Amino acid sequence: MSNRSPWIHQLNNDRKVVPLKEDIETDVAIIGAGIAGISTAFFVLKHTDKKVAMIEKGKFAHGATGHNAGQIASYFERPFHELAEEFGLEKAAKAQVAIETSWQLLDEMYTEAGLSIPISRFMGQAGFTTGDQVLRHLKDNFYRRKACIRTEGFKISNNAPFLDSIPAEYDGLYSLVPHEEVLKDLQTMNREYIATLSYQKGCLNSALFCQEIISHLKKTYPERFALYEHTAISKAVLHEGRAILDAGKHTVVAQRVALCTNGFEGVNIINEGGLAVDTKFHHLVKGMVGYMSAYLEPMNKSAIAVSYFPPNHIDSSDPFDEDPYFYMTRRPYDFPGNDNSNLISVGGPEFPMENRIEYNADLDYPEDAKKRINSFVKSTYDPDPNKKIDYQFTWHGLMGYTPSGVRLVGEEPKNRTLMYNLGCNGVGILPSIYGARRIAAIVSGEKVEPMIFDPKA
Ligand SMILES: Cc1cc2nc3c(=O)[nH]c(=O)nc-3n(C[C@H](O)[C@H](O)[C@H](O)COP(=O)(O)OP(=O)(O)OC[C@H]3O[C@@H](n4cnc5c(N)ncnc54)[C@H](O)[C@@H]3O)c2cc1C
Repeated sequence: MSNRSPWIHQLNNDRKVVPLKEDIETDVAIIGAGIAGISTAFFVLKHTDKKVAMIEKGKFAHGATGHNAGQIASYFERPFHELAEEFGLEKAAKAQVAIETSWQLLDEMYTEAGLSIPISRFMGQAGFTTGDQVLRHLKDNFYRRKACIRTEGFKISNNAPFLDSIPAEYDGLYSLVPHEEVLKDLQTMNREYIATLSYQKGCLNSALFCQEIISHLKKTYPERFALYEHTAISKAVLHEGRAILDAGKHTVVAQRVALCTNGFEGVNIINEGGLAVDTKFHHLVKGMVGYMSAYLEPMNKSAIAVSYFPPNHIDSSDPFDEDPYFYMTRRPYDFPGNDNSNLISVGGPEFPMENRIEYNADLDYPEDAKKRINSFVKSTYDPDPNKKIDYQFTWHGLMGYTPSGVRLVGEEPKNRTLMYNLGCNGVGILPSIYGARRIAAIVSGEKVEPMIFDPKA
């Protein structure tokens, strides 16, 4: 079975792909045309008068952006209390608020580009089965309250076996409700689920979003914006205030370069303008392949996103844990011959990849991942024993986990010509957009306050 994503399926596949055919000079070169690169182009073009050239080795939005779950979520793929312990409460809270306010940046992009593609908003849910999982997430809520930022809604079943072990300091951070209410919020009949957390979420096809933003940029900035696909950058030579990019047969000369490549593989960075760029941390971006399956059902329920933490999921901050949690999204989906359908997409199985460069997007979808997803669906979301589920889409995508679990956004300390907006970390739609706005602020010469996203010297 191949890698077939419902998001790529909705793109215009008849369009003409234009590679770089000559040497060019530009103000800002953006390497990588996923949601990070495309949003960076959007905000740089909007907030500066710079010319932007975007260079993509394959086709736009065919990386993680076209192979994700498409949930718009504002949490880090690492517990908030751990971020607070590592970076300090104030800095962690600032970062959390920055990601949450990126909803407004997404709105801004929608409005300015006049987009009409579907986007859904709702309260997302996360369901828990063990006391450990509940206590861990309550600890996050406790730190949120301490930092005076919005806490997450938390309901615990009044018959849960661990109620006595909840510390008194968590009082006021949750409510006790009948078990049936928890199950209803989580849309499951699986009685193992005994608590639920809710927070603002949404969903969109981030690849389609990129397609629409690109056509807006082409229309709005015909003189200042160009996209070159099927053009890989293999080397970036940095000078003071100038970079030369090796694009195979041609070169790109730019005043500034934004690396929006999700990881660092494939671009050899040579700093002629100072000390060698420390590429050691580049190799610390660990690869993880995420597997997803989706099927269609009649459109008779509203859009929703729910994460389910089964009992065997050890709720640690390590994304490389073997027993995953599952994330389900239900949303309206246009599919020829299936009008008025909802798409139910489910992810969970993930496999670490020692060397990200070995990832092959054309690899078959493993039967084991499909089985695990189907057994989750049958136990928790769609238990009808007489219904055989026909998965029309099965796909996989590569994530890049930074050591801190935080996206890398800002200037390379050894040479400010180079900037980063990368490190997908499982949850990357809002962080990419946040990073894009921050890169635009840097390019326009605004003084930006230090954040936990800053690349370190
Ligand atoms: C299975 C899965 C589920 C996910 N679910 C969610 C979710 O529900 N919500 C969420 O917020 N996030 C989710 N994510 C993460 C999210 O998709 C990513 O964080 C986001 O798409 C990253 O965008 P990006 O632009 O940084 O990277 P990408 O989309 O990977 O784009 C990087 C681009 O750079 C190009 N490139 C790389 N090297 C070069 C080079 N040398 N020269 C030229 N071009 C180059 C690549 O071809 C690629 O197109 C998920 C990811 C996966 C894989």
